[in-house]
Amino acid sequence: MSNEAIKDLWIRAKELLKDETTVIAYETWIQSLDLKSVNDNIIVLTATNSFQRDAIENKYLDLITNTFNYLTNKKCKVLIKLDSEEIDSQVQMPAVKNNKVLLSSGLNPTYTFNSFVVGNNNKFAQAAAMGVAETPGSKYNPFFIYGGVGLGKTHLMHSIGNQILANNPNLNILYVTSENFTNQLINALKDQATEKFREKYRNIDVLLIDDIQFIANKKSTQEEFFHTFNSLYEAGKQIVLSSDKPPKDIELLEDRLKSRFDWGLIADISSPDYETRLAILRKKTQTDNIIIDDEILSEIATRIDTNIRDLEGTIKKLIATASLTGSPITMEMAEKAINDIVSLQDKVISSDYIQEVVGKYFDVSPQDLKGSKRSNDVTLPRQIAMYLCRNVAQMSLPQIGNDFGKRDHTTVMHACNKIEKEIKSNSSSNIKMIVESVKKILLSNN
Ligand code: ADP
Ligand code: MG
Repeated sequence: MSNEAIKDLWIRAKELLKDETTVIAYETWIQSLDLKSVNDNIIVLTATNSFQRDAIENKYLDLITNTFNYLTNKKCKVLIKLDSEEIDSQVQMPAVKNNKVLLSSGLNPTYTFNSFVVGNNNKFAQAAAMGVAETPGSKYNPFFIYGGVGLGKTHLMHSIGNQILANNPNLNILYVTSENFTNQLINALKDQATEKFREKYRNIDVLLIDDIQFIANKKSTQEEFFHTFNSLYEAGKQIVLSSDKPPKDIELLEDRLKSRFDWGLIADISSPDYETRLAILRKKTQTDNIIIDDEILSEIATRIDTNIRDLEGTIKKLIATASLTGSPITMEMAEKAINDIVSLQDKVISSDYIQEVVGKYFDVSPQDLKGSKRSNDVTLPRQIAMYLCRNVAQMSLPQIGNDFGKRDHTTVMHACNKIEKEIKSNSSSNIKMIVESVKKILLSNN
């Protein structure tokens, strides 16, 4: 693609993105992104710092990817890099091979042992993870990490993968979420390519599967994973798993899997204490070269005591405010950012609440939304409710499926895609207007 064409594509993408986000979100996160390269369907955007990159990856990647899919008529893969990272697949540099290995491994290079702060809440899990990384396949197999959201499970898994890759670049390492594993399996079944799927998974030296609890209740995924597990285990390959609960408490997980997850070592991560929270904040500001008064950091560490993602969220908010107003970070700003995060914590929009509001709007009972009726007057509200769970409450597809009468996540995906298409198509169905007004109710009354 010519430079001109790239420039033009980015201008059109930004126009669409501007429409789809709030002014603040657009100006804070998207406006300063750069379109670095377009190589076939691989699109590389560059961010100016890691906060911006993480915000984009966590919140806007789907939106941006959809925008490029739409503009290029291709299924795009969007990568967000830092300005300073010279990763460009067009340039043949010695580092390219490693980057390719890294890309295909699914590992995030910033999640390392180095950037992981050790505290009482995670020191056992961290030490065990280091052990696994030193001698994969021999010590603790499988290695199973569990704990609540935002406490560092994913970070620790990537650290293991990155460390093994650094020690031995020739090993075949793969990090996937269980959601992804399931999707790949479903596609393989659909394309009659299960042999290829099996071959891929059985040729792995280190398999890291995140949030394994989501394969519960999925028969064919559990079956396939059972065989993958056995063949890797017998070949002495390392398996690392994470979940929100210990294996025995994962409902609807087959007993034979539960018992296998018990074969190695199980480690939990709990909530960090004050000292650990402060240490994490200090580390984050150091890494990103941001100066925030220690007094302010200590205030944040005192008041945000739930999860680490929220600690980071507060810092990101502060940086965004400071850069918008062009003033240094003050205690008042911090108070406001903390209050925003704390009130968000109180205001979790649940699927129950969404079902209640959508139900009222359409005069359909929440039971019917969760139930199996397929008449038109129920199907559309159900699909809209699923779409809102995904887009307003940021719930995962399996979670939504579960809350809507244990439906499969592909059903949810289909519903979300359909509503999204309707909204974009400007058809006469008024769906865009309906979704907008329900969204308003959800966000105001809650
Ligand atoms: P989980 O997978 O348990 O939900 P994550 O691993 O995604 O949590 O962690 C959420 C965020 O908090 C990530 O950005 C991660 O880098 C950060 N984080 C978690 N634990 C630590 C830690 N001990 N030190 C530094 N950062 C951490
Ligand atoms: Mg995680």
